[in-house]
Amino acid sequence: MSRIGMGFDVHRLVPGRDLWLGGVKIEHDKGLLGHSDADVAIHALCDALLGAACLRDIGHHFPDSDPRYKGIDSRVLLRHVTQLLRQHGYRLGNCDITICAEQPKVNPHVPAMQEQLAQCLECEVSQVSIKATTTERLGFTGRGEGIAAYAVALIEEMNALS
Ligand code: MG
Repeated sequence: MSRIGMGFDVHRLVPGRDLWLGGVKIEHDKGLLGHSDADVAIHALCDALLGAACLRDIGHHFPDSDPRYKGIDSRVLLRHVTQLLRQHGYRLGNCDITICAEQPKVNPHVPAMQEQLAQCLECEVSQVSIKATTTERLGFTGRGEGIAAYAVALIEEMNALS
């Protein structure tokens, strides 16, 4: 049987922080603010995967009140989620992420992000789709105040006969 999940996340853009998106460090005059490295794309993806397996959400597994996760590389969290799904008998079918950002340009970094996420997920690059869009200068993403990400993921039972 296949199961679907969705995830959504937002982080504020502020000066003086590195910008991590999809497991890739991008040169920009601002970075995302958060307890971890605030990689909004990975957080949305983790929530999609956890949701598909009915395993709560990223805040449940990695609470931002826990000092262990302060400044943590979100790729570590994604690897943890990947193992969690495996322990519950699931493997990834495919996932699809949309990143909403006015600045910086995300598209040139998409292949590197796919590579990074596929490594964490222990899957093929073709199973990890990443798309980028602006919001036509509308809303908080359009004003450059933050970046939003949406993700969906399909997972499959590993022991399924069909
Ligand atoms: Mg987050």
